[in-house]
Amino acid sequence: MTAAAVLGPRTVEEIVTRAGRPGFDRWAQQVERCGHCARPVRLRGRVVHHSAAGRQLTYSTDVEPDRVLLVRCGNRRAAACPSCSYEYAGDMWQLLYAGAAGGRKGVPESIRAHPLVFATLTAPGFGPVHTTRTDRTGNGSARCRPARGKPRLCTHGRPSWCNAVHAEDDPRLGQPICADCYDYPAHVAFNWHAPELWRRFTIAVRRSLARQAGLTAAEFGRRGRVSFVKVAEFQRRGVVHFHALIRLDGPGDFEPPRIGIDALGLAEAIRRAGAHVRLTVDMPDGSGLVLRFGDQLDTQTVNAGPAGELTPEHAARYIAKYATKSAEDFGLGDRRGSPRPRCRSSKSASTPHGSSGWPGSSANTRRTTGCGAGSTCSASADTSPQRAAGTPPRWVQSGGSGAHTASGRPPSTCASWARTRATRR
Ligand SMILES: [Zn+2]
Ligand SMILES: [Zn+2]
Ligand SMILES: [Zn+2]
Repeated sequence: MTAAAVLGPRTVEEIVTRAGRPGFDRWAQQVERCGHCARPVRLRGRVVHHSAAGRQLTYSTDVEPDRVLLVRCGNRRAAACPSCSYEYAGDMWQLLYAGAAGGRKGVPESIRAHPLVFATLTAPGFGPVHTTRTDRTGNGSARCRPARGKPRLCTHGRPSWCNAVHAEDDPRLGQPICADCYDYPAHVAFNWHAPELWRRFTIAVRRSLARQAGLTAAEFGRRGRVSFVKVAEFQRRGVVHFHALIRLDGPGDFEPPRIGIDALGLAEAIRRAGAHVRLTVDMPDGSGLVLRFGDQLDTQTVNAGPAGELTPEHAARYIAKYATKSAEDFGLGDRRGSPRPRCRSSKSASTPHGSSGWPGSSANTRRTTGCGAGSTCSASADTSPQRAAGTPPRWVQSGGSGAHTASGRPPSTCASWARTRATRR
């Protein structure tokens, strides 16, 4: 097959036209500069510097090919833009690794001695769903939900079992065995309120640690601090779950905790907090629903010497991978529910990105907004409806790929890293 046949006649015609234009070299330079981004934002506008001498026009896109400046889309999802998601995953890894192992991005190597845990918090069950299982040997596939004892129908007259061995691409996977038995309202409520449940969990972790150390909350605050970075990901059944790196620090920058709790103790506090945290929410029918995490709460210690189950490299890789996982993996299609890069704003209204803390947290907030330049930039780029209008949390639309948050204290390296990226763009 020839290249022309792969590209299609219209694309070939466009390529030939572009190559023949006088501004081709500048256009090629722009494309290269934005990393061959699949969906670059086409900025149009001017940069004006205001000084004592008056206004001075320093740049205008009028001189550019097509009168636009191409800027990376910054999309984290591989299916939307392979180039930007690759860059994002790399940046994420670097910052996560810095927070886990130190020795880079201005984080000292001594951070490696801080208790650090990789935790996964899942949602509870809302009803049986089709799933894949491994057999007893651990190598083969087992049946989905074989009937145990006398097979019985559910109250809707449907089988409560499934004897199929599902292939990995089976569209039934994650779907309820009986849609009428499945508790969809609770499922939706869990996804919607997951950020608040997570927030309460982080408070519960601090309290649990304080109790473990025999301290009051105020004393704990003077001796230690919990920093974390988390990613919200969709399970196949469409419920959000969290992967997080949680670290116990001292009260000062990069200071070790002044509490005698190691990584195993931190893991214990996390499990206890995860098991006990509750959130009661009002449902549309006027009833109250108590939300909690599921029983499958996994903790793995990092850097804990002989007891350490994960290396910082692995932990950083997991989070970076989950952060760039595409919505298409969950069958949600390529929807864009979050704002595209937008100039003149350093914060995005709808992103659930947290405040600060783990190296890179403020950088992550910046990345979604695209423009970090200092000059007044009167460029325009399109945006989408915000959550203020009642749209779901961002990961409901982006397949979990967009929701990571960090907390704690902002190391200056984050901001400087973000500035470097923005300047390069
Ligand atoms: Zn891109
Ligand atoms: Zn099944
Ligand atoms: Zn049923």
